[in-house]
Amino acid sequence: MNTGVKGGLATLGLAVALAGALPSPGAQPAPATRALLVTVDDLPVAGQHPEPAERVRITEQLLAALRRRHVRAVGFVIWSHVRDEADRTVLRRWLAEGHELGNHSDQHLSLSASAVETWIADVERGRAGLQTFLDEAAPGRRVRFFRFPFLREGDTPEKLAAVRRYLDASGQRNLPVTLDNQDWSFDQPWSAAGDDAARARVAAEYHAALRFERRHHLERSDALWERPVPQVLLLHANAVGAAQWPVLFDELTREGLRFGTADEVLADAALATPPAVAATHGFGLWDRVWQARAEQAAIDDVKALLQRQAQAWSRGDIVDFCSVYADDATFVSPSGLTQGRQAVLERYQQRYPGKAAMGRLGLDVLEARPHVAVAFTPLGGAVPGAVSSVSVVARWTLTYDDKPGTSGLTLLVLRRTRTGFLIVQDASM
Ligand SMILES: [Zn+2]
Repeated sequence: MNTGVKGGLATLGLAVALAGALPSPGAQPAPATRALLVTVDDLPVAGQHPEPAERVRITEQLLAALRRRHVRAVGFVIWSHVRDEADRTVLRRWLAEGHELGNHSDQHLSLSASAVETWIADVERGRAGLQTFLDEAAPGRRVRFFRFPFLREGDTPEKLAAVRRYLDASGQRNLPVTLDNQDWSFDQPWSAAGDDAARARVAAEYHAALRFERRHHLERSDALWERPVPQVLLLHANAVGAAQWPVLFDELTREGLRFGTADEVLADAALATPPAVAATHGFGLWDRVWQARAEQAAIDDVKALLQRQAQAWSRGDIVDFCSVYADDATFVSPSGLTQGRQAVLERYQQRYPGKAAMGRLGLDVLEARPHVAVAFTPLGGAVPGAVSSVSVVARWTLTYDDKPGTSGLTLLVLRRTRTGFLIVQDASM
């Protein structure tokens, strides 16, 4: 599972509508060829398939679809789901067909909802279990790759850093997803479909949804990198995939995607270092890169605004200095509470009557935190929203020609508006 928005595709009718709205796969010229790595999550088999024979049958169909297009995939194992001999047989079949197995943890915990020590211990149990299996089934093979459950890489910078330290130390590489989608949400409707007509409808919705989500990620990729960078597709080992992968793989080929290996795809600089973006939800890699760049751009904007503000103060232009306060700004200082831009302006004019009293202002940003809300695609996939505000901790200094200077700290909250950032809260001390 990727974003973990349970029931994200509850409104299947929407996908039918999208299927009608989107051009057919052959309607546009194919873009330049680019390598695509297929990754398959939640092995041995995802979804509710309690019969061992059913799990083996699904696996053989998945493997046949991969073989038909000469795909070398990486499959990610949830170790606690390896329960019986049928599951071990399933994993051996993936290895025998030339695919690689990676670690997808023991219990598939969400990092956003877990203490980091608990979560790392679970991931390590998964790695150790899978390595023990490989030592017997494929001697010499090492667990190289890791896939985050729900693609959640850490909701705080501290968790993010702790997990990266663990992965490095244990020799596992995060294999990111660039083409994220909600393919897992179609397995239950597919398995519950009562006849061919119902199955055909689910299949149409499955392909329309994947096409829609693929387009978002490919467009974002092209906008970020301005070249056709390699991609990593997320799929799940389930019954709907067993039936639909042949059609899907044909469509991907028509779109100019060429099946590549993990080593080839991961060698590209665009995939080398996933940005350290703390997020509660599981975003695809391009959404993370996009968010990292949007956050940096917002920080740059705010720093430039504060420098302009310092310059306005230093040349004695208190009206210009106050122009970046919002109409409803709140100003807090040890001397009390001031509300509204006009009142803030009057307070400053009273305390600093004239250029000589104002001195020269320096603002040194010590910390800037952009705030990004989570947005959802019409299909329930989580994507980063725009930067809505930035909070800043800064040191201010006032220097004078004829007397000693003063210095203090300020906490500012700046809200993004149509015309740029405005200060909505200012606590100066
Ligand atoms: Zn998963």
